[in-house]
Amino acid sequence: MSEPILIDGKAIAASVRAEITARAARLVRETGRRPGLAVVLVGEDPASEVYVRNKDKAAEACGFHSVKHTLPATTSQAELVALVARLNDDADIHGILVQLPLPDHIDASTVLRLIRPDKDVDGFHPVNVGLLTAGERASALVPCTPAGSLVLLKRTLPGPLAGLEAVVIGRSNIVGKPMASLLLAESCTVTIAHSRTRDLPAVVRRADIVVAAVGRPQMVRGDWIKPGTTVIDVGINRIPAPDRGAGATRLVGDVAFDEARTRAGAITPVPGGVGPMTIAMLMANTLTAARRQLGLAEEP
Ligand code: NDP
Repeated sequence: MSEPILIDGKAIAASVRAEITARAARLVRETGRRPGLAVVLVGEDPASEVYVRNKDKAAEACGFHSVKHTLPATTSQAELVALVARLNDDADIHGILVQLPLPDHIDASTVLRLIRPDKDVDGFHPVNVGLLTAGERASALVPCTPAGSLVLLKRTLPGPLAGLEAVVIGRSNIVGKPMASLLLAESCTVTIAHSRTRDLPAVVRRADIVVAAVGRPQMVRGDWIKPGTTVIDVGINRIPAPDRGAGATRLVGDVAFDEARTRAGAITPVPGGVGPMTIAMLMANTLTAARRQLGLAEEP
């Protein structure tokens, strides 16, 4: 096989963000209103703190009105619900994101269901899940990671995706299921594989497109990949890297990259593939939510 296309998520995310920045500036010129994003963090989970800081920074870089609410781990469910209600009613806030995981004493699904669906920029509210599943993507807000994965596919594959065999490994509500819905909407023939799938290598070998969202380091081996396949690796796994020194770690995906790259037609690296797209799509969702709430037509 010749060298595969290395799908540069960083560069594609940067171009998406530049486009959003320009569109947000146009919105300000035309309406005097900025897209507004509120990110809510409860507790002191270090990884969540990094994600929230990055989302806030990205929103500011796009020219959005960005508000960060950092609440102590002792915050009660009632207090969090009251904050969500205030943000729902705040006309300057078009997108609300409650960073997961929440502390154990708070029921995440209760809180997420109280976010107004048209402000649900994570796309987790049942109304948005239903719209996407019903094939009404144009009125839904779509979860950011699968939406970003689809952008990578569309910018990599030359023609329409219709008719291609797509295998999504993983059936989570955050990645696997919405990814499958998006690929189905593109008229792919979609298989969703999971921990009970029989003979996963044989299933994956059928695929023209593989999306791995499992959370198991390098589980998908190179000889599972049909030559020429496009591989989107959503997984982010930290593993020990003794070659880098005692106690050192590195990030790897769910795909054994060095093996898969000898067969794939195109493949995302980890890091630098899907990861950067997630925040870019959060910005895209916030802009979309703002335009809808301001009664403006969708842009092409
Ligand atoms: P979940 O743990 O919610 O889901 C994992 C899925 O993988 C489940 O459906 C599970 O099947 C399936 N699975 C587990 N083991 C196997 C196996 N041996 N064979 C086949 N399928 C298996 O994870 P998420 O969807 O939330 O995340 C998946 C990965 O993506 C993680 O590495 C996560 O860190 C990463 N991620 C990356 C993001 C990004 O921005 N790039 C954003 C979100 C997630 P079953 O349902 O049967 O248990």
